[in-house]
Amino acid sequence: MPLHTNSNARPSLDADIYGTEAAGSSVPKFRMPQGELPPDVAFALVRDELFLDGNARQNLATFCQTWMDPQVHQLMDMSLDKNMIDKDEYPATAELESRCVHILADLWNSPKAADTIGCSTTGSSEASMLGGLALKWQWRKRMQAAGKPTDKPNIITGPVQVCWHKFARYFDVELREIPLKRGQLGMTAEEVLKRCDENTIGVVPTFGVTFTCQYEPVAAIAVALDHLANTTGLDIPIHVDAASGGFTSPFVTPELLWDFRLPRVRSINASGHKYGLAPLGVGWVVWRDRSDLPDELVFNVNYLGGDMPTFALNFSRSAGQIIAQYYLFLRLGHDGYRRILQNGYDTGQHIGREIRKLGPFELFFDGNPMNGIPAVSWVIRDGADPGYNLFDLSDRLRVRGWQVAAYTMPPNIADVVVMRVLIRHGFSRDMADLLLEDVRRSIRHLQRHPVSHPEGPAEATTFTHHALPLVPSDDRQRSLPPLTEEVLLVPAE
Ligand SMILES: *Cc1c(COP(=O)(O)O)cnc(C)c1O
Repeated sequence: MPLHTNSNARPSLDADIYGTEAAGSSVPKFRMPQGELPPDVAFALVRDELFLDGNARQNLATFCQTWMDPQVHQLMDMSLDKNMIDKDEYPATAELESRCVHILADLWNSPKAADTIGCSTTGSSEASMLGGLALKWQWRKRMQAAGKPTDKPNIITGPVQVCWHKFARYFDVELREIPLKRGQLGMTAEEVLKRCDENTIGVVPTFGVTFTCQYEPVAAIAVALDHLANTTGLDIPIHVDAASGGFTSPFVTPELLWDFRLPRVRSINASGHKYGLAPLGVGWVVWRDRSDLPDELVFNVNYLGGDMPTFALNFSRSAGQIIAQYYLFLRLGHDGYRRILQNGYDTGQHIGREIRKLGPFELFFDGNPMNGIPAVSWVIRDGADPGYNLFDLSDRLRVRGWQVAAYTMPPNIADVVVMRVLIRHGFSRDMADLLLEDVRRSIRHLQRHPVSHPEGPAEATTFTHHALPLVPSDDRQRSLPPLTEEVLLVPAE
């Protein structure tokens, strides 16, 4: 008999869950059951299905938080019934959100943190959409005022996270994405300038690139755009996608210039649930000045009581993540964030040093905090043929529960295969050593049981390191670059 046709699925209160009829039948997959189940039985069935998910703490492919202290769990539980959008009903929650915005504006060195404007979002994806929309509206106003057409907006980025592809398609903006090249692993001022015209709504450097873990050189790009404005009148704003870097650099490398210290940076987004250390479901976008957020994008609604301005793609959602974010700011302070992140960088560098001893690996990103986020990535050395590739290694690590991403680079250099480990809150040095031991074990296994690749020996991983050097640990962002020819390349006519 299928589950739930029997209204008495739990015959007696003292029956063991796995002795019930429910535990002995298939669960419904396509249709809602007619009858009810006792909550403990339904809970056990659902919980057990989830065993097949990977273990989140061993997921080294995600940027998002997988460890939370008990107080965060408690606050999340307390906030389950609070809708963050009801600012009138939950003024204390609204106040915490507003404090977070101003704390972030200050963290990102806004000259007038108290006057900045911003909001929480569900993550950097929504925050990017809002940042992009503000750029588009501001550009349209500029063009209309000049009596120019407004039908062909474009936006310039480096190799971006998919949210910017979505922004471009959903909101009808041409995406001018600077491709990765051998020898050039990110946006450069020169490549940006080649793509600027009067239809450019903004330039979006990524501060912590998904594929390379590196910071793009925001300061050099800002200087180049300042020069462009001075020489041609094209005044193009910058929005920084600091999904990861917005919560790493301010604590570990505060001397890097990438934020509101650069007047051209008009808005910044970051993911609270990445290095902001908050639970999944919170991001932030902050505008430098109230005037950077066009009034037309803000709606006022009165049906929740009071008059409430709202600028968001979502409406109702739980307030827990916002409350937890404020708790974390209060709990950890600058010192706490810095210590956690510094441990992360050190652990990434430790893995980098050790991994090279285990196989023919060359570091692709070495975890230097001046250059990027707490992570490490590597490739198989040029010309080496260990008899396996990084996808094989990734598969093999899965046997021990580790989820380590192996992936190809974006189109132009799609033959480059990288293995990447992101170091997050809750990943200790001891866990790194356990991982390294399992890499050693996996390699031994792959050597004893070589994988056959019909297309040839591990070809996909060939990496020409002469043609594609690691980006040097230069100090190009340490301070505003001098106004040299190099930084100030003007676009060729
Ligand atoms: C993660 C990420 C995003 C998307 O952020 P979510 O918080 O997952 O929505 C956007 N840009 C970059 C650079 C990212 O790393």
